[in-house]
Amino acid sequence: MQNETIRLSQETKSRLELTPEMASRCYTCATCSSGCPASGLVPGWDARKAIRAVSLGLDQEVVDSKWPWVCTLCGRCQYACPQGIQILKTFRGLRSLRERDQVPGPLHKGTMMNLERGNNLGIPRDDFLILLAELSVELMEDDEEKPCPGFYVPVDKENANVIVTINSKEPFSEPDDLKFWWQIFYAAKEDWTVSSTNWEGVNWGLFTGDDASMKEQVHRVLENARRLKAKTILYPE
Ligand code: SF4
Ligand code: SF4
Repeated sequence: MQNETIRLSQETKSRLELTPEMASRCYTCATCSSGCPASGLVPGWDARKAIRAVSLGLDQEVVDSKWPWVCTLCGRCQYACPQGIQILKTFRGLRSLRERDQVPGPLHKGTMMNLERGNNLGIPRDDFLILLAELSVELMEDDEEKPCPGFYVPVDKENANVIVTINSKEPFSEPDDLKFWWQIFYAAKEDWTVSSTNWEGVNWGLFTGDDASMKEQVHRVLENARRLKAKTILYPE
């Protein structure tokens, strides 16, 4: 009995920075997991079980599982938790504890690419600008299918009302999706711009729990807004 008491005491030393009262706060009501869109995606795991495991100091088991990576960080669980537990902070912290070469999919690679080249997919600046020009021509022609006569993408325009960030997936593989936004701006007569550099709007540093990269990417977007004296930053993602 004494050994068991000691073992549990040691297990509660979590590497996550959680509020000390968290372990006793969670009373396993399952409100979090019952409304979670990711429940059932990873056998054996859901939000409640992950929080309980962390509460018992078993954070490495959660870190090594797929659970933190199927959580979308939507925040529904935290909003509903009757005990006010910081579930989002906990799950993002669990991602931070994963070795970077063990981060799933292209997320860490894309983060490094963004820091090196200004977007997650490493699209060169000239290719980006040529694409914007070509898409502008498609939209500016005045007929029923291309309904924006006089349209152009205002790159690096100063004093615009809105500076728009872009998901690199769109210029890379789904360029027509860019035109949906642009047609709205055109119809609304919005005063907008896009930066020719560091225009990525998907912050994988945020998603992967990489604080340093997340901050650098946010800093770059802010710098673009300051340089171009834009009033508002729009993150479509
Ligand atoms: S909703 Fe809150 S108290 Fe209930 S199981 Fe989830 S984390 Fe614990
Ligand atoms: S933040 Fe994650 S755990 Fe919470 S409801 Fe959304 S997907 Fe589920």
